[in-house]
Amino acid sequence: MRATCWSGRNTVQVETVPDPQILNDRDAIVKITSTAICGSDLHLYDGYVPTMTKGDILGHEFMGEIVELGKDVGNLAVGDRVVVPFPIACGNCFQCSRGMFSICENSNPNAGMAEKMWGHAPAGIYGYSALTGGYAGGQAEYARVPFADVGPIKIDNDDLTDDQVLFLSDIFPTGFMGAEVCEIQPGDVIAVFGAGPVGQFSIASAILLGAEQVIAIDS
Ligand SMILES: [Zn+2]
Ligand SMILES: [Zn+2]
Repeated sequence: MRATCWSGRNTVQVETVPDPQILNDRDAIVKITSTAICGSDLHLYDGYVPTMTKGDILGHEFMGEIVELGKDVGNLAVGDRVVVPFPIACGNCFQCSRGMFSICENSNPNAGMAEKMWGHAPAGIYGYSALTGGYAGGQAEYARVPFADVGPIKIDNDDLTDDQVLFLSDIFPTGFMGAEVCEIQPGDVIAVFGAGPVGQFSIASAILLGAEQVIAIDS
């Protein structure tokens, strides 16, 4: 398949790489129909995140069609259309059982390394260095999705275009969280600093959560 690969600081190339395979019974293979570039990808591109290796496949915001399933994924079928959230979560550990999927204790095999670097370890993340598990990303034709019975969001409504649902993979929930922590009450006036993509989702979320007026501040 073709995939977007990191090949050194400030260098990204589309290369031919081996197709992903099912490795575990809870894996799925997704044929990517849409994928996004994240602001966080710039940290990889700029060389600020250590443990990137030449040839690493980038991308943690993607969606597509299930083309292959491990035998223990009971809630999805081949042909299903799914959006894949960027944190990889087992669904069974202490943190997952509390809904804290982004700090799953089982999905990042390099958690010890991440702890030394950041003081704590995130869950595994697609396409985001060995520190988050070294998983291949979704800026590619296909991706392997581990614990596919937990993360992927099934999109049943064919009237929704990829562009309308893709951002559930990361930046819509990221912007929503910014608005959610404000504990918005009806009638509140909310200021959003920065009107890039995440800021725009924060603006939309603030309105959804009942803000009467939202003021966006940017240069
Ligand atoms: Zn992202
Ligand atoms: Zn877990």
